[in-house]
Formats: sequence, structure tokens, C-alpha cells
Amino acid sequence: MQDKASDKTAVTLSGRMLSPGLGSGKAFLYRDILGRSDEFYDIEETDVIDEIARFTKAVNKVSDDLKVLADSISNEMDDSLSDVFYAHITMVQDNSLTSEVEKEIKEELVSAGTAVKTVFRRWERRFQRMEMEIAKHKADDVHDLARRLIGSLAGVRFHALESLPEDSVLIARRLLPSDTIFLARRNAAAALLEYGGAGSHAALFAREIGLPCITGVANVLEAVTEGAFTLVNADAAEAIVDPDQRQQQVFKAQYEQLQQDYQKARKCALKPALTGAGQHIKVYANVVCAEETQQAVDNGADGIGLYRIEQAYLGRQTPPDAATLMQEVHTTLEPAKHLPVYVRLLDVGADKPLPFMESLRETNPALGLRGIRFLHAYPDLLQTQLDVLLQLNAEFDLHILVPMVTLPEDMQSVRKLLAQQVSATQLSLPKIGTMVETPAAALSLPELSRHADFLSFGTNDLTQYTFAADRENADVEQYFNDAHEVIFRLLDIAHKDLPDAQFSVCGELAGRAENVSRLIKCGVTTLSVAPPLIPAVKQAVRES
Ligand code: PEP
Ligand code: MG
Repeated sequence: MQDKASDKTAVTLSGRMLSPGLGSGKAFLYRDILGRSDEFYDIEETDVIDEIARFTKAVNKVSDDLKVLADSISNEMDDSLSDVFYAHITMVQDNSLTSEVEKEIKEELVSAGTAVKTVFRRWERRFQRMEMEIAKHKADDVHDLARRLIGSLAGVRFHALESLPEDSVLIARRLLPSDTIFLARRNAAAALLEYGGAGSHAALFAREIGLPCITGVANVLEAVTEGAFTLVNADAAEAIVDPDQRQQQVFKAQYEQLQQDYQKARKCALKPALTGAGQHIKVYANVVCAEETQQAVDNGADGIGLYRIEQAYLGRQTPPDAATLMQEVHTTLEPAKHLPVYVRLLDVGADKPLPFMESLRETNPALGLRGIRFLHAYPDLLQTQLDVLLQLNAEFDLHILVPMVTLPEDMQSVRKLLAQQVSATQLSLPKIGTMVETPAAALSLPELSRHADFLSFGTNDLTQYTFAADRENADVEQYFNDAHEVIFRLLDIAHKDLPDAQFSVCGELAGRAENVSRLIKCGVTTLSVAPPLIPAVKQAVRES
């Protein structure tokens, strides 16, 4: 907290909460090198060969840097994160991309930097247009690589966030995969972004590391000056730049209150969460790696409600074989060996593309081969997972979640496969449940539940499909409201249809304290949330 009130006029900025909490510090403006490099100029025909050589050198340099980065992340952090950067190496060396840049230099007589900017932008747009939701992450990857190449051409040796001072408030248009790695290594106090929806890379990441974050702040880089003291109240989706003395005092009091509430919640987090009426509501965690599972256990998770197994597939050149998958899943679940664990079958397609399945071309991927539909189209992928999960069922209290179920047949087919394997191996059958993520599933639970041992509402996709609003698309964010009355109406209908069923919610809706009592009234008995949110959600249960 600043000691002295600023003599500048305070500016209040508002947006939408992406990740809860309060934080304050000096603003660190993170400008994209693509918007400000002096690497953009025209060249003479005689310079073409030199310019192409500079480009080739930059590609090699970026590949080397990425390799060092990926190796160090793999040692220090998580293999699934490093795989993103190994995939970037393949992409930056892709022949069609590099030859298009060389052609641009030669034919348009522009510098390597200009050619990279133009060609990579073209590819970014192509991904955005052609593949819609699927391309969102790919487009981000291309953008990220263009930035690296131009940085390398300009002789910029380090990622700008390498110099992010501790306890800064990060101000950025948006966050890309490489940014999140650097953020994970520093302790930013908070972040203000212009773009980034509730289901975006940035959102999941911010919640996972507990970084208070507001998105949708218009012209944020113009609104804040470098070094300006900034208060961020993500819970109120509001930030104050150059606050006056009174605003700082109010913020300080709010911050202290929040710390007290958190300490109180943390103290009780290891105890079960009972409502005022004495009903036990289980608070589980959504995880992708062992570190998160450990954090979930430390924060008092009653189980792992959603293990997103996609992480074991992303960034690989080929799908993992049974032994590799077994090792990955085992390592992730190990810290929760004493608890119930719910592993979701691979949920790819649309916003979760697989690098080795590029050939899948669909006009409307979000409505195409997603989740279980994809697995039915690639039965070997499904079979490997079922083999692995059946083995692990002997060691863990394991449950299998089937993603993107629409029809009873989606469940029946998985059950049949499991039953066949069990009878061939003498292994015991794990419990198998439905992810309720489409309006069709929510409205046909009596039929679906005949084939499911449990039901878990994935409200992120349920909202996307109910409101026909792409969860990754900032342009339709006003339509994506997972706490809308319509979503609760679907839950109410489900509760009326199956009054004795115990529902779980594992979408982001479950992690926001203000929804907890409403969800419980709809028959929800399990909430599965990002690990840092568990104490607050348990507290909200107690207060409901
Ligand atoms: C959901 O859709 O709500 C969900 C939990 O799954 P994911 O966010 O991984 O699609
Ligand atoms: Mg989903």
C-alpha cells in the first residue's frame, strides 16, 4: 500500500471479473512488440538474400530458445506446459510458414520483420476464420511466435515479462501461452486485461494460480500510465488508478477483511462443508496436473471432481501409449489416493484441438465431433483410456466421466466397451457418469441416468450451447452468462425430473460463492472448483 496519497486524479476502470481477489501495486504495461518494433521497413532487391538469412537465423535462434525454455519448464514445473513450447518449435520450423515469409520478403521487398508480421497475421486470421473456436488457441500460438521472431530480429533477448517486478499490477491487451509461464514464475499482484473470456487460456490460468484478474477493460494500455499505483478489486470488477487517500483506505480495509475471511475459510477448509441445515456438500477440485492435485488436497478438497485428461495429449506429436498415459494419470492422481477421483475421458474438438489431429476439418467444430463423439470416431484412443482407467480402478476410488453426452447411446456404448473389457480381464467395473453439457442432455436426464451412475453439470459448455455463444469469443461475451436464470431453470427442471438424484457441478459457475446456495436448492450436492477456490466455496456452503 502507498503511504502518501497521489496528487493525480484517480481514474476508475471497470470490466468483468476473470479471477477473484484483491491486489495492488505499480502498473507494469505489457505492450506487444508487434505494435512497436522498428523492424518494419522496405528493402532493396539487393538486400533480399541478407534479409532471408536474417530470417533463417531468427528461426534457429527462436527454436533454440524455445528448446531451452521447454526443457527448463519440464524440469521445474509440468511436462504438459513444456509440451506447448515443444509444439511451438515444430510450428516455427514449418516449411509452409517459413517459405511464405521468404516469398513475402522476395516479392514485396520488405524486411524480415515486416514479412513475419504480415504472414503470421495472415495465418492467425486464417485460423480464426477457418476453424473458428478450434483455431483460437492456434491463432494465439501463431501470434506468440511472430512476437518471438520479431523480438529476435530486433535483438530483444528476453521476454518482456522477465522483468516484471514482484507485486506489480500487470496491464495487457491479452495474455498468451508464453506470458502465463513467466507470470507463473513471478508474483504479480493482479492483472487488468482488455480481452479474454471466461473460458480462455488466461482465465483458467489466472484462477489456477489465484491471480486477481479483471478482463474487458477498454483501451487498458492507454488508460493506465507506467508505474501508476493501481488498486484492483477483481471481486467488484473494478480498478482505481492513482487512487486518493480515502480510496486507498477503503481498499486497505477491504483487503484486510478479505485476508481475514480467507484465513477463517482456510482454517475450516479441512473440515467437511455443512449447510446451515446440516446438509453435507462435497467440495471437489478440477485439476490438470499433480501440483494442482496436491494444492487441492492441502486446501481441503473432498475429492477430485474433474481431472481434465487432455493435458496428457496436448503438445504431443502422437497420442500417448497405454504405459505413458498410465504414468501421467497415476502421477496426477497420486496426491489424492485416499479420495474419490473423477477422470474425464479425453474431451477434444472445438476449443480443445489435438496437435496430431490437424486434418479434422469441420464447418462448425463446436457442433461437430467433440468429446465422446470424437472418441467414437477414433476408437483406439478410447480403448487405450479405458484400459488404463480399468487398471487404475484397482488402486484408486476411480470414477469415469463421459464428456459431451447428448444421447443415451453415448453412454451405452462406453458401458458396453467397459463391460467387455471387464469380463475379459476379471477387473472390477468403475462407476461411470455423464457430463451434462448440452441442453439435450439436461432435458433428458431420466433416460440418461439409466445408463449413468452419476451426473455432473459442465456449465461452461452448457452455457455455450444454451446461448449459442462461443465461450472463447470476446465478441459474444455478453451472451455467455453461466449464472443466467435460464441455466438455473435447466438445473431446476433436472431436479424436478430426478428429485432424488445427487448432482455435481464442475463448470466455473460452481467456483463463485454467490451461486452456491442457489445451486444447492437445485439439488446440487457436489461442487468441483479450481483448487485455490476451495476454502471460499466451503465457507459459502456453511453460510448457505
Ligand atoms: C464445462 O464445460 O463446464 C466443463 C467443466 O468442461 P470444460 O470446461 O473442460 O469444457
Ligand atoms: Mg465442457
